[in-house]
Amino acid sequence: MKKIGIIGRPNVGKSTLFNRLAGQRIAIVDDMAGVTRDRIEFTAEWLGRRFRVVDTAGYDLKEEIVKKEMQRQFMYSLEEADFFILMVDGREGVHPLDEIVCGLLREGGKSFVVAVNKIDSSSAENLAYDFFSMGIDKVFPISATHGRNVDDLMDEIISRL
Ligand code: GDP
Ligand code: MG
Repeated sequence: MKKIGIIGRPNVGKSTLFNRLAGQRIAIVDDMAGVTRDRIEFTAEWLGRRFRVVDTAGYDLKEEIVKKEMQRQFMYSLEEADFFILMVDGREGVHPLDEIVCGLLREGGKSFVVAVNKIDSSSAENLAYDFFSMGIDKVFPISATHGRNVDDLMDEIISRL
């Protein structure tokens, strides 16, 4: 079964999205939450496709990632997922770590989408366009808290999984 990893800096809303996917819209088929302290994953279903969603501390990016050895370990931890949601904070704009990780995903040939979170209303959607500077051709402005556009995000992921 394909695995989707939710990746991004601390506090961008990864766990909020994870919980939303686990609790609403996507039916939990098999709950394996809390297998270890720093890793939660579960089997989800969207439009008839089943896949696993992973929220791990290993994907919670820290400043040290810029160091070579950390990059190597980070890339290793990336091996276990087939697809990534790179989550960024639309209110804070592009952070150097976002750019670094975007580059690592690209270099590693990983499939990913950029979810610009904390876009709680349509009037804030323009904040998401900043992230085109990372060299991506599509951004997904979402609100993990309110569920805004999360269905569009999942539709895209399923179509590319
Ligand atoms: P993580 O560290 O990336 O897992 O981030 P969390 O899911 O723990 O969220 C960090 C903070 O951002 C919490 O206070 C959330 O309530 C808040 N947050 C998450 N998603 C959204 C969102 O869509 N809109 C707003 N306004 N706040 C959010
Ligand atoms: Mg978290």
